[in-house]
Amino acid sequence: MATPDAWALVCRLFAGGTPILRAALSPREIAALPALGQAVKPTALDQRFVLCPYCHQQRAQVWSDGHRGRTCLCPECGPVAVAADDAVALRLDEDWLRRKLRLALSIESRDGIDALGDGVWRLGDSRRSPVLLARDLIRLWREPALLERVRVAGEPIRVITPKPRETRGAPFGPGVEWLALEDRFAFYAGGISFIGMPGEPPDPKASDPTTPVKGPFSADFRWVTLPGWPHSPIRLTEAQAAVFEALWSFKGEPRTAEQIMRRAGLESAKPIDVFKVKARDKGKPEAEGPLSAYRVLVFTQKRAGLYWMPCAAQQARSQSLTTSKVEEELS
Ligand SMILES: [Zn+2]
Repeated sequence: MATPDAWALVCRLFAGGTPILRAALSPREIAALPALGQAVKPTALDQRFVLCPYCHQQRAQVWSDGHRGRTCLCPECGPVAVAADDAVALRLDEDWLRRKLRLALSIESRDGIDALGDGVWRLGDSRRSPVLLARDLIRLWREPALLERVRVAGEPIRVITPKPRETRGAPFGPGVEWLALEDRFAFYAGGISFIGMPGEPPDPKASDPTTPVKGPFSADFRWVTLPGWPHSPIRLTEAQAAVFEALWSFKGEPRTAEQIMRRAGLESAKPIDVFKVKARDKGKPEAEGPLSAYRVLVFTQKRAGLYWMPCAAQQARSQSLTTSKVEEELS
């Protein structure tokens, strides 16, 4: 039975969060469908648009061709006839996924699943650790308050997310155990099984200098790993690294541009100045990458002229948690 393919399809549907056209599935994915049973269900898509049945690349508007047939107008291929099953899509039964993940982690059924909004769920407690499921890892970097909402003193949080294309090591740092949906779980006998650690967790002090060890940043702030960004890890200039390091030092607290730039030891007026992409570098990943990282990680309140970086707050709290735990053990 094609169970690795079945699990890969479950992960893909969950990460996307929307139905996928049957016509867009690979032959291996189609072969895996029977194994999934009720976990993946057919669903009707918006009938006014289809994925072009010819190129499978473009979304195209559907027209009646006047003879009870239908045609779509693909921007690439022009008019293409649409068969009835070109509009058949498949969706993941996400309740099934959450229920089976709970079983896989032996989460007590007496506490329910809480939707924390926008693709994040608290699945319950596994032993004493709260378990979060999120559709997107970046969402938790941008809103670390979600982690704080579920944190229990002295216990790590387990976070399950689909694996971004470019993430190694521990994207959350201490206090949070990250479980990649694709790697740490498998589809097994109609349910989901949890795969224990295959040995030691990845060493954050690994010799690779790009490894994220301070949230998404490398130890020297010269590299940032941005899930989903195709050229990650992103190399930063000395000035960009200095701005991120300054923002990091403020532990997620808002500061003025002047305070940040002074701490970074830079002449420019605003943090964004060192990220601006020159006209001749437009579209170059080495120039656009740092700007994308800035946009994802740094929040601004324009009217008050304040800047902060939420992922630094999460890190600061989990570090102080670890510290207080050590102190407790020493006393
Ligand atoms: Zn087309």
